[in-house]
Amino acid sequence: MKLVLATRNSGKIAEFRRILEELHPRSIELVGLEHYPNLQDVEETGETFFENALLKARTVCQETGLPTIADDSGLSIDALGGAPGVLSARWSGVHGNDQANIDKVLAQLEAISADERGAHFTCVTAFVMPDGREASAEGILSGKILRQPIGNNGFGYDPIFLPDGSELSLAQVDATTKDLISHRGQSLRVIAPRVAVMLGALG
Ligand code: IMP
Repeated sequence: MKLVLATRNSGKIAEFRRILEELHPRSIELVGLEHYPNLQDVEETGETFFENALLKARTVCQETGLPTIADDSGLSIDALGGAPGVLSARWSGVHGNDQANIDKVLAQLEAISADERGAHFTCVTAFVMPDGREASAEGILSGKILRQPIGNNGFGYDPIFLPDGSELSLAQVDATTKDLISHRGQSLRVIAPRVAVMLGALG
């Protein structure tokens, strides 16, 4: 049976495929949105990660007629009252400009001392079935915002994020290490078995 992952990001598809395969499900074929070139991107109009993830999963499920998983994620900084939050990808005003987003956050935190630089990443994953059944799961990674970027791996705010208990920024660790602790890895590991059960794919 087919399961749609509502993303065009091949890294996210590969990560979820690895997590799903650990459960040895029967006959689930995971497909990304590259199989649906005519589908319009769903506008993220929600005020929370949960609303946006559910909106994407419901819309793509309705348009494809297939069980669908979608996620939404972002960075919440304590000293900024939880911003950029759902605006993380477009914080500088230009969608997806990682360097400009980092520069803006560092400027906003310039006067903030080391013990007030707490932040966390959140990822909410939503699953919607054509018969209307739904599930969701949240993952959180807590840490601190560094004073300057360090490391070349990853994407987004990784170079300025120091996970709690780590001496390396998220951009200094490899993808496998990041998957183990990340907000996205956590939420996918919670939802994957529930998806497999709801699809009747476990033996
Ligand atoms: P989306 O959920 O893929 O739309 O991601 C929203 C935005 O949040 C991204 O464009 C990044 O700016 C930020 N973000 C989400 N997850 C991460 C992460 O694991 N590392 C760094 N930035 C992230």
